[in-house]
Amino acid sequence: MTRTDRLLPEEPLLDLASYLAAGGGSGLRHAAELGGESVIRLVRESGLRGRGGAGFPTGLKWHGAAQAEGPAVVVANAAEGEPGTMKDRAIMEYNPYLLLEGMAIAAEAIRATTAIIGIKARFEPHIARLESAASEMAAAGLLDGIDFRITEGPDDYLLGVETALLEVIEGRDPLPRVLPPYLHGLAGAGDNELRTVVNNVETLANVPGIVANGSDWFRENGTGESPGTMVFTVSGDVRRPAVVELPLGTPLSLLIYGPGGGLHDGRKPKLVISGVSNRPLAEHELDVPMSYEAMSRIGSGLGAGGFIVYDDTTCAVEVATALSGFLARSSCGQCPPCKLGTSAFADGFASVLDGDSDFDDVAAMTAWISRVTDANRCGLGAGQRALAEGILDVFADDVVACVERRCPGHRGLLPPAPIDHDPAAQRPLIVFMPGDEL
Ligand code: SF4
Repeated sequence: MTRTDRLLPEEPLLDLASYLAAGGGSGLRHAAELGGESVIRLVRESGLRGRGGAGFPTGLKWHGAAQAEGPAVVVANAAEGEPGTMKDRAIMEYNPYLLLEGMAIAAEAIRATTAIIGIKARFEPHIARLESAASEMAAAGLLDGIDFRITEGPDDYLLGVETALLEVIEGRDPLPRVLPPYLHGLAGAGDNELRTVVNNVETLANVPGIVANGSDWFRENGTGESPGTMVFTVSGDVRRPAVVELPLGTPLSLLIYGPGGGLHDGRKPKLVISGVSNRPLAEHELDVPMSYEAMSRIGSGLGAGGFIVYDDTTCAVEVATALSGFLARSSCGQCPPCKLGTSAFADGFASVLDGDSDFDDVAAMTAWISRVTDANRCGLGAGQRALAEGILDVFADDVVACVERRCPGHRGLLPPAPIDHDPAAQRPLIVFMPGDEL
């Protein structure tokens, strides 16, 4: 198993000439020759799935948008905020041209004349890279016919929810909408609603390669249901926090012990999370392939490919308390099951951790698992439910130990903050070169 470099080059591409010399731009040229319908067929055949967390087939999303008439817009979701993930920022830092070319191809495919990147204002270095790359590409005629814009938003976790991102682009707060973008798109001129496609940064960055080289080339990596590569992040108690591009289906243990360098002092992992909204994994599950289907089969999820590792000194209830508190604070309160459920889990785990709960209290908290349904505006409530259910089920021994006040000790864990990275530094997060054996 080797690191790949389809999305992350060995060194940042600092100008358009470098990008073109490396083969950039050929996807866009090929898309113009093929036309929108053929581009969409190619993307559907490739099996590309959304890399933002949901894993929805990209070609299907584009096909739906292309069937309707009227003005259209392509939105790139660059609001990366899942704790433990920084793959979109790595792509924007190392190769912003790839994202812009992917957006231009998406615009060709659905006949859009507007392309917007929605990004946190805090990501200043990445915004500067995108602005500079867009100017170069526009001057070279590569963005002809596209009104290209960047919208900066607040630091809220919910900005990454695509319907909340659309709200911010329209000038409001990041509050998720009821309807998805294909039913409630961005407002256009007059009373017109724009046909709207929202894709994650990494999803769009995959598109130029697919259009330039074909769907079989794309499927050379990955599995049948999860084709291609993915940019994974590993952090937490590993020796080398890393961002690395690998074929989908690579075992998680290879990420932890290869690029991640294993754990400090030879410790073992106890619990690994793939984002704050999936069932945590236990040590015996770490050989699971990092694919949508394998992660789903064991009752968890791939998320955005960001894994936080906690070592065997960790109390799972402490992790649950930190993550549940983060989710409860992030809930916007529009949906009662989410608002009440996230608070119940956050308060419940905190009380268990403090030794203030008995087993009746744990049972009362457990009852919220059936009350937090999927009928919410976004996935935050259901994510909290999956996290809580996983802790109460897989790490029940720690819950019992805390209730019986024999928990071996707490580490003072804080909610995992989004990883920040200074691009001026010597790329401390990307440690493996193309072709390195894991
Ligand atoms: Fe807000 Fe939660 Fe509803 Fe999402 S599920 S819109 S975070 S209340």
